[in-house]
Amino acid sequence: MPDKKTIRDVDVSGKKVLLRVDFNVPFKPGTVEISNTNRITSSLPTIRYLLDHGAAIIICSHLGRPDGKKVSSLTLGPISEKLTQFLDVPVNFCPSIDFCKIDLFVKDLKPGEVILLENLRFHPGEEENEAEFALWLSGLADIYVNDAFGAAHRAHASTQGVTKHLTSVAGLLLEEEIRSLRHVMFDPPRPFTAVLGGAKISDKIDVVTRLGSMADTVLIGGGMAATFLKSQGFNVGLSLVEDNFLSEAEALVARSSPPASGLMLPSDAVVSTAFHSEAEHRICEVSDIEPDEMFLDIGPQTAENYVRVLENSASVFWNGPMGVFEWEQYSHGTKLVAEATSVGARVSVIGGGSTVEAISKFGLEGRMTHISTGGGASLEFLGGKKLPGIESLTGFDNP
Ligand code: AMP
Repeated sequence: MPDKKTIRDVDVSGKKVLLRVDFNVPFKPGTVEISNTNRITSSLPTIRYLLDHGAAIIICSHLGRPDGKKVSSLTLGPISEKLTQFLDVPVNFCPSIDFCKIDLFVKDLKPGEVILLENLRFHPGEEENEAEFALWLSGLADIYVNDAFGAAHRAHASTQGVTKHLTSVAGLLLEEEIRSLRHVMFDPPRPFTAVLGGAKISDKIDVVTRLGSMADTVLIGGGMAATFLKSQGFNVGLSLVEDNFLSEAEALVARSSPPASGLMLPSDAVVSTAFHSEAEHRICEVSDIEPDEMFLDIGPQTAENYVRVLENSASVFWNGPMGVFEWEQYSHGTKLVAEATSVGARVSVIGGGSTVEAISKFGLEGRMTHISTGGGASLEFLGGKKLPGIESLTGFDNP
């Protein structure tokens, strides 16, 4: 974070701090039980720092997509209870979305006290980045802190609008996210390998292009592998293919220079005629995929080749599972890649989203150097885009 201020650069003592976090956590279906608390625990260092330095904290976040309406299943109430347990400090939840009631709730907040506001997206002004809503939000506090890396690629009232009215600095998580991603972006220990998979190439084309020219090796898996394979003339049957990206995929392969470095595609695959967790499946060469079959995981030979590359890498950036890892029979490629990424002293940066779910499914969270809390944000950042939630923070040259 060389050019933007962080909480270490401002005096928060005795001040009210509006802290934007990303508590957009997953819940067990149909319950109020949080299934992964990573996004909550990741912001604890910032909250503790602010408390230790005498701030009063008003925490705000979004959860899901209520589209500007109050949706009771998307309340932040359960998160407030979880946060109280983690912090060992009572967190006062403000269930109202009435501006006057919130103003009253916040008015007498004292240093050392913590308030959590209700889901910001219950207000239509949040996603619309409405000037009036941003002004009201900024009026709650003296300083704004952004720790919501997962929402930093959105220009919303609480990530951008509010910064027009308050000194706005980064929290410790945002700082760490940027430091880790910049490290792999500009100064990765080499050999540097990028592992890219997941459903679609269209979501990741910028990052594949950029990493294609920066990484020593790019390993391709997941649904996007089928588009790459088709671009090389393979028949991929019923696999997920994005035909409008075939020429870009072909150009990316042509630009790489295997085998010592470059872009590697699967040589074998786990395929099936049905997209189902228990459907019959088989392993075949990618040249033998039948017209009624689809690519659902990288095959064992590919996994072995990828593991070998990872074992010889000094740093790894990974975004996107190698197959439909949620289903046991298509999870092996992702598991082997996860294990190879996690062992040894290499720098391992995980780009958020479903890759985090995969890593936690295999119990490897603690073994990675950095797991990003922002899937979309980390892809945009690595793809070279400027993120509004970071750009709008107070810089050293422009206080
Ligand atoms: P993403 O969010 O783009 O990283 O995509 C993650 C999703 O891609 C996961 O839910 C996987 O089940 C899915 N996925 C991975 N490989 C494939 C594949 N070969 N075909 C269809 N979906 C896939």
